[in-house]
Amino acid sequence: MLSGEAMAVLKARYLREGETPEKMFWRVAEYVAEAEALYGGDRQAACQEYYAIMAGLEFLPNSPALMNAGRKQAQMAACFVLPVDDSLGDIFDTLKHAALIHQSGGGTGFSFSRLRPKGDRIAGTNGKASGPVSFLHVYDAATEVVRQGAVRRGANMAVLRVDHPDIEEFITAKRDRTVLNNFNLSVGITDAFMVAVAQDRSFALVHPRTGRTVRQVSARRLFDLMAAMAWENGEPGLFFLDTVNRANPTPHLGNFEAPNPCSEQPLLPYESCVLGSVNLAKMVAADGQHLDYDRLSVVVRRAVRFLDNIIDRNWYPLPAVAEATLRTRKIGLGIMGLADLFIMLDIPYGSKQAVLLTADIMRFITAEARRESARLAAERGPFPAYPGSIYESSIGPVRNATVTTIAPTGTISIIANCSSGIEPLFALAFSRHVLGGQVLASINPTVLAYLDKRGLLTTDVEKTIKHQGSVRNTGLPYHVKQVLATAHEIRPIWHVAQLAAAQRYTDNAVSKTVNLPHKAMPHDVARIFSLAYRSGCKGVTVYRDGSRDQQVLVQGVAA
Ligand code: UDP
Repeated sequence: MLSGEAMAVLKARYLREGETPEKMFWRVAEYVAEAEALYGGDRQAACQEYYAIMAGLEFLPNSPALMNAGRKQAQMAACFVLPVDDSLGDIFDTLKHAALIHQSGGGTGFSFSRLRPKGDRIAGTNGKASGPVSFLHVYDAATEVVRQGAVRRGANMAVLRVDHPDIEEFITAKRDRTVLNNFNLSVGITDAFMVAVAQDRSFALVHPRTGRTVRQVSARRLFDLMAAMAWENGEPGLFFLDTVNRANPTPHLGNFEAPNPCSEQPLLPYESCVLGSVNLAKMVAADGQHLDYDRLSVVVRRAVRFLDNIIDRNWYPLPAVAEATLRTRKIGLGIMGLADLFIMLDIPYGSKQAVLLTADIMRFITAEARRESARLAAERGPFPAYPGSIYESSIGPVRNATVTTIAPTGTISIIANCSSGIEPLFALAFSRHVLGGQVLASINPTVLAYLDKRGLLTTDVEKTIKHQGSVRNTGLPYHVKQVLATAHEIRPIWHVAQLAAAQRYTDNAVSKTVNLPHKAMPHDVARIFSLAYRSGCKGVTVYRDGSRDQQVLVQGVAA
């Protein structure tokens, strides 16, 4: 049932002593189904249903749920956001909280925008402030130490608003690739900034405490600096603050300042969120030519109840996290295996048809998930902060302030043996460096099946795929080359189109990288940034092929 890679990953971190994958899925199903008892539901039936969708690899929750369900401290959420306030005590309190979250398997996002800039006066000591970037290094060092004993590597996201006086230092902070390895950096972009860039005007950097202008900079120069750095090594990403806050379902509780580490989940301070993903590669109808929307609906509805149950069965590492999470009951259901689905349906990832299908799928999933959340509200009550939320004046009571998120699914897609999230295939054959240097090699089974079915799997083609990870240099028909195009062969605008299509029907955000060919220039990155903003994306990250020394995924498998 499970691939060799999946077994290797599970054995390394997920399975308990003597546990088989089946037992692991039972452990998770039983633990989560227990919540049904709180509401007079059928625990046994729910347990069977949850087991079936997990063991069938139709749906998997995020890693912490698989790892921690059934433990004494069953911390099952992947995503957290913590506030960082402008005092030494607050900065180190938050660092302590982050350490506890990392220890339990969660990732943390922070905004450092409230910290006073470097060189500012500190009234208490008459000294000078060291600025947000200096504290980033402290947080990074702490994460490095905690990771040794943690369930998994603690990942961090740092956001700094584009109008913070230290913004240039932040944008260039990872130029030296040896530092801040436990952090992803995103610039918090405002609409006002994007207008200033479009009009080539100057832009004010303001003191976060006093609100006074510290200096004026050229908006375009700042934008170009972000593009140049991202061109160099993929960072910083952009996080579109105003776009994100326009979609805030609970504006009465406050504004978003930061998302979780991989950017797919904007959260209010102290909120946490459990993610889960439906494997679309398992949602193809028996005729092999259509998406089975009936089955998808069944899986989505079960997954929503599963994720809502987790909120009640979860162990919260801090009282403030319990309070904030239980107030909005956000869940993040998403998809994985999208690229597999496209190949199975013979559709090129970089095509209008594929973009429309992505939008259709997410529109369907969000609508079904919302309906299930409304049913849950009728049975169990709406989320406590419902009064004052956007739902009060629209569709009425729902159990969860958000229902959908598209996660990277870095590990759970390996367990399900499908393509990750909504990404195209990075290579048709690849070696993965996972879990501390172990190398796992494989040729994509969906690709093999696709070629085999059409009688195109010659020894030559197989050899080329193994060596190059691509069919670009084969004599295969043009359409086949389009369907099997890999991430860097797909034009960057198609990546943005897919990101935007998915985002349009997703409550939270979407994790996706816009891949650029090696020969792309910094102004290409700037154009992608603008396009992503204009098409309503909540954030954007780029990666230019070969721009980092060590890539996580390496194309081709040595013969
Ligand atoms: N995450 C983390 N450490 C990791 C990988 C992931 O803290 O090493 C968190 C992070 O918040 C990320 C989220 O888990 O955004 C989801 O990542 P992914 O979908 O890749 O996780 P999976 O469930 O597949 O392990």
